[in-house]
Amino acid sequence: SRLDSDEERCNQILRNMEASLTARDRVGIQDFVLLDAYTSESAFLDNLRKRFHENLIYTYIGTLLVSVNPYKELDIYSKKQMDTYMGVNFFELPPHIYALADNVFRTMLTEFNNHFILISGESGAGKTEASKKILQFYAVSCPSTKLLNNVRDRLLLSNPVLEAFGNAKTLKNDNSSRFGKYMDIQFDHQGGAVGGHILSYLLEKSRVVHQNHGERNFHIFYQLVEGGEDELLRWLGLQRNCQLYSYLVQGDCAKVSSVNDKSDWRTVQKALSVVDFSENDIEHLFGIIASVLHLGNVKFGADPRGYAILNNNPEMHWLSKLLGIPPQVLQQGLTHRKIEAKAEELFTPFTVDHAVYARDALAKAIYGRTFNWLVNKINESLANKENSDWSFYLFIYLFIYSSFEQFCINYCNEKLQQLFIQLTLKSEQEEYEMEGIEWEPVPYFNNKIICDLVEEKHRGIISVLDEECLRPGEATDLTFLEKMEEKMGGHPHFVTHKLADQKTRKTLERGDFRLLHYAGEVTYCVMINGEGEIEFGGYYILFFPIKVMRQSKNSIIKHCFPSTEPDSKKRPETVVTQFKSSLVGLTEILMSKEPWYVRCIKPNEGKQPGRFDDVLVRHQVKYLGLMEHLRVRRAGFAYRRRYEIFLQRYKPLCPDTWPNWKGTAAEGVQRLIKHLGYKPNEYKMGRTKIFIRHPRTLFATEDAFEV
Ligand code: ATP
Ligand code: MG
Repeated sequence: SRLDSDEERCNQILRNMEASLTARDRVGIQDFVLLDAYTSESAFLDNLRKRFHENLIYTYIGTLLVSVNPYKELDIYSKKQMDTYMGVNFFELPPHIYALADNVFRTMLTEFNNHFILISGESGAGKTEASKKILQFYAVSCPSTKLLNNVRDRLLLSNPVLEAFGNAKTLKNDNSSRFGKYMDIQFDHQGGAVGGHILSYLLEKSRVVHQNHGERNFHIFYQLVEGGEDELLRWLGLQRNCQLYSYLVQGDCAKVSSVNDKSDWRTVQKALSVVDFSENDIEHLFGIIASVLHLGNVKFGADPRGYAILNNNPEMHWLSKLLGIPPQVLQQGLTHRKIEAKAEELFTPFTVDHAVYARDALAKAIYGRTFNWLVNKINESLANKENSDWSFYLFIYLFIYSSFEQFCINYCNEKLQQLFIQLTLKSEQEEYEMEGIEWEPVPYFNNKIICDLVEEKHRGIISVLDEECLRPGEATDLTFLEKMEEKMGGHPHFVTHKLADQKTRKTLERGDFRLLHYAGEVTYCVMINGEGEIEFGGYYILFFPIKVMRQSKNSIIKHCFPSTEPDSKKRPETVVTQFKSSLVGLTEILMSKEPWYVRCIKPNEGKQPGRFDDVLVRHQVKYLGLMEHLRVRRAGFAYRRRYEIFLQRYKPLCPDTWPNWKGTAAEGVQRLIKHLGYKPNEYKMGRTKIFIRHPRTLFATEDAFEV
């Protein structure tokens, strides 16, 4: 009977509702914007945790993607998955990095504009993996021709090469990227990739000569020693035993269970040949890698006055051969400083300590410059030979932990955070204006004050550092600190030893200063070298060994140490000033493009699957600015949809609009929501879109729909 069937239908509806509620209970919600308690960090964390334990590592905040490292292989990156996400509306499928990649790509092709994806998170959070997933998605989804395949293969294969030379095992990550990187891919108007470019900055060169306990040098050294063919090793004067090389054993962990150096070596070999490296290049490249290992084994003796001497070191023979520099020249270069006074050249000998310092400085310079050469070489191979219509930037930024580099990276993070806030608020505001809708701005912490502290002309830390670097021999770590105290002592985000007690309860070492970044406090150490000169991004290199390098017959070294290099007397821009300029340039580029964000989160410090450490995650949620982003997203209206799309999706819920609505989409939506009983303060009608204030409203509609 009719009654029976009505009752049956009711029961069915109830069962469905229950099922959908339990499902939401179990797997959390896919988009934080729909979270009821959207200001509560705990609710945020609960949702993230719930999803993590269901292997649902991706969650949206609007179009921002939050990703939690699962530390295990998930079956969600197959070709089939890629196909599923290709060309589908962003919110119609569960959150995925492919959805983001696809959406960026299609927006670029329909709106004809430039985009960038910013991937951030701390070491081990999954930034590199995320960027690889995006590249792989494009490799499969872009329309392909022969030319494109070429670019595509090179883009994909440049990765293992860069990782071999720029990544290392650290305590936090077995494959940690020790350099900042951003890359862009250029597309033609049909969406084919026609070129690419990689920009690298701030390679952690100190790792070449020193590794902390439990950490390794860059992968490539171990790959060469473990995987290099017998003949090659003989030619390089190397033996197949990492323990023999002092630059490889300081962290006491040459072997890492999760890394296979031998097979990685083969991958890198293959990649190098695809990315246009000639045999000559490859030979010279490994000549350099081997030289660095030999250099590390050079030992100095002391003459009666305590000056450094080289007693028949077997390494000198190999260094001379591989670098193509006569042994006597090399020997003098490693033990003397050359002073040019008017027409005279004076050689003053190094003490043993100095010689060791100069040796390490040289090893770092050689490796660092070779790395830059490598990136340039890859760029030549990726260079766009066609005219491209748009480019799309994939930008990855990261945190490095050695003091000076950390300062630069954290400064970079401050800048990017500022950019993020500006762009998010700006675009939100613009959308409301465009649609003719009123809104009230959200209060947020503007970190401009911290950016200024670092970069302001004549007053900021960088400019003080520059000034001090102009006083060689006079400036020391202490004068640097004093000057900073003088200029920024009153700044609310700056603390030194002397000022520490007044502002925070924690004490500081004498040579340290502390900045209160938006993400938290960081203490930086200004180091002194043997002569008391500043070694905090200042320009301190012993130039003589560098000059010696100019005589090299090794083509890469020759290229990396050109004879036109500025002399020690004219000090070039400090590293930090260069970095500041490149950052300003970068921000300008990014400001002109559509931003997309991937925020990576590390669930635990143990690299373990299935463990979600609340304290650790909470901290990251905070400094990644996720709560702020959510607030901004929710400030006005949680959801907005174009009338057509809204009507298309929900029209079955109203007899007037189902199956066909004859009027305009806006009128249809008006009719629909009246039928659904939306209250006037819950929504606004814009010019082309409906804005819904509270997600609960949309929830109810979705539920009605599911039933
Ligand atoms: P760093 O700043 O140190 O370079 P990162 O953010 O680039 O760190 P990744 O190298 O991407 O970190 O990730 C660290 C490790 O975590 C990977 O080697 C991999 O084992 C694991 N991992 C990351 N993302 C995923 C993922 N989506 N699926 C499975 N495992 C992952
Ligand atoms: Mg990385």
